Amino acid sequence: MSDPTARPRVIAGNWKMHHLRQDAERFCARLKAGLGEKTAGEGRVEVLLFPSFTLLPTVARQLAGSAVGWGGQDLHPAEQGAHTGDVSGAQLADVGCSWVLCGHSERRQDHREGDDLVGHKALAARRSGLKPMICLGETAAEREAGQTFAVLERQLRAALRPGGESAEGGDGGESLDAFALAYEPVWAIGTGATATPELAQEAHAFLRRLLGDLLGEARAGGTAILYGGSVKPGNAAELIAPADIDGFLIGGASLDPDSFLDIIGVCGTAA
Ligand code: PEP
Repeated sequence: MSDPTARPRVIAGNWKMHHLRQDAERFCARLKAGLGEKTAGEGRVEVLLFPSFTLLPTVARQLAGSAVGWGGQDLHPAEQGAHTGDVSGAQLADVGCSWVLCGHSERRQDHREGDDLVGHKALAARRSGLKPMICLGETAAEREAGQTFAVLERQLRAALRPGGESAEGGDGGESLDAFALAYEPVWAIGTGATATPELAQEAHAFLRRLLGDLLGEARAGGTAILYGGSVKPGNAAELIAPADIDGFLIGGASLDPDSFLDIIGVCGTAA
């Protein structure tokens, strides 16, 4: 089994299509103050925010010089061009992003993003110097049909090798030198129905074994795999306990700075 203490914990807030500039300013001020008050263990926790594109300059101004990072919720796989309504990796990097979400289930559902597109987005992120946080997870119907692991394997293989073995740009994951995974069972996102720690650990261990097969043990052991799906201050301690859960991608509970801080606190102090 890989050593969880060899990996930093990552606690990330996904604001989705919430907040205006004033809310973002207030949130960042409270977050910085709250992080300043904490004393135990926070060195092991990397804190990230994923605001809407329009809020990125505000968040960048507020968080510049702090230990908190930020990223975009999506990017286009092309470097630039005629893609109305889209945002490139270079544009995200230009406002100080260090991360970007790729393949969130709401994009897979709302915009019919397929597995290969997610992989091309992840590669485009790396070309712009961003770390992709690749989101994957099964729907309720897929879990009920016993397809959870097949779905996760299909999604992960495509994310690391879009278009298959021989496709241009698909290189077995070599160019994805830095990335994280977020296991987000679709049935647990925004529903209040959280995975049990055992169920989440089973999926995370499966993903880490597959990463080991695809990229080697060392990289599998060093890659953060976050859990997402109705994480709250009240369930964070039990969900962070399993060995292969390295942090959280948090939607609803990241909108309020105090609940977000509570979750960071739990993850900074839990063994
Ligand atoms: C998410 O948006 O990635 C998410 C996990 O949302 P929630 O925490 O609200 O379930």
